[in-house]
Amino acid sequence: MKKATIHAVEHFDNIIVRIDEAGRTLNIPDWMVDKLKDFKLVWSSGLELKMDDGSLKHFNACRVWHRSPFNDRPHKGGQRYHPLVNVEMMKPHSIEMSIKLWLMKIRMGGAKGGIAVDPAQLSKGELKRLTEANVDEMDERNILGPFRDVPAPDAGTTATIMHWVRQRYAWRRRAHEDSRFAGVVTGKPVGYGFDGIEGRNEATGYGLISVLEHIMKKRLGKVGRTRVAVMGFGNVGSHVVERAAARKHHIIAVSDEHGGVYNSKGLDVEKLFAYFHEAKTVAGFQGGDALSSAELLELPDIDVLVPAALEHVLTVENAARVGAKLIVEGANSPTTFEADDILADKNIIVIPDVCANAGGVTVSFFEWARNVNMGDEFVPETGKRVDVLASMERILLAGADEMCRNADKYHTSLRNAAFVTAIGHVAPLFIAKHMA
Ligand code: NAD
Repeated sequence: MKKATIHAVEHFDNIIVRIDEAGRTLNIPDWMVDKLKDFKLVWSSGLELKMDDGSLKHFNACRVWHRSPFNDRPHKGGQRYHPLVNVEMMKPHSIEMSIKLWLMKIRMGGAKGGIAVDPAQLSKGELKRLTEANVDEMDERNILGPFRDVPAPDAGTTATIMHWVRQRYAWRRRAHEDSRFAGVVTGKPVGYGFDGIEGRNEATGYGLISVLEHIMKKRLGKVGRTRVAVMGFGNVGSHVVERAAARKHHIIAVSDEHGGVYNSKGLDVEKLFAYFHEAKTVAGFQGGDALSSAELLELPDIDVLVPAALEHVLTVENAARVGAKLIVEGANSPTTFEADDILADKNIIVIPDVCANAGGVTVSFFEWARNVNMGDEFVPETGKRVDVLASMERILLAGADEMCRNADKYHTSLRNAAFVTAIGHVAPLFIAKHMA
């Protein structure tokens, strides 16, 4: 099942190949396939920032909305601060967000955006003023709002930055303390007056382990003590490690941008975290041998590989050498469509990003729904961590079950089944919207 039509492995190609494949599986009309590759909003703007030394500097910001059939609900997705942010990069991410939301039956459309900036190069005051300048631009174009577009943290952005967004949006309405505007953004700090939700921080990592164990039971008949390697030790990777260790899996290797560490007998996770909190990296941890992220991806003696750092790390270059039996995608789009074919030939099960890492957006949805007082059968009755994570798990496992059923029904990969399930949920709504 080689897809010979596209050779350049660009991020957008990945998503196009996957929509086309799901469209063929579902046999949906061409206009709908085209619609699923289309965007409701592609916005970009220059921002001028007054630096601490009094000089002015120019930055570029953007935001993209994928198509959505939910007129009564907002678009939702991460807001990234990174030098490579641009419209072309955000387009496929906005589609991924839609697929993730629709797979989990969350009635929203995908979005993604950010500012081309290295936040580490700015002072706290500069970062705040840049964030406020972007809120001003978005608000003047009527892009932002609890029922328009609800950003969330992504690479380079934090709960504090989300709080600044909420404050600025409310301030523009002369309503600094007004809780009505809390729903303009999610991933806010937790606590009185902040209106964030408990459990958001660990949601993605915890959800990934729940999905992994569920699918192992379904596909392999058992879970057992699994040997796991994790690339990336940020929000996703570190919580994957913490949760996997709590569930008695063996953490064989971890890595981050500075390097990694490997111990065939299993790393001492408590000592690893103690080291990480001091050193701010896992590289150099003395509880094992040093290894690179490239070596980690190809370890022969692991059961489960979790890429939880960057896009496109599993490619035609290395897919044939992957030793794990199962890959769980913590990062967005870590596997190219060409690598998918190679991994399938090796009978490696890939649990796709749109299912495996959907815990974060699911809890963000809870946060938004509580902020705007939106009753929903899915939303936990309390904002307590235990209720939030239990509700999240119910949603993720229901999505994973439907994905597995569709994989069996259509004799297809879990990834195509995830796209098929998600698109299947919204296809009747698109038809109703346009044929009425
Ligand atoms: P993060 O910024 O907290 O952590 C990123 C990690 O990747 C860091 O440990 C960093 O050192 C590491 N890294 C960077 N370059 C690397 C390299 N070349 N080799 C090895 N490691 C490298 O980001 P995060 O929130 O953990 O997100 C990671 C991925 O997961 C991203 O693709 C993100 O879009 C995706 N994701 C995150 C969430 C969430 O809730 N945070 C939800 C869904 C998807």
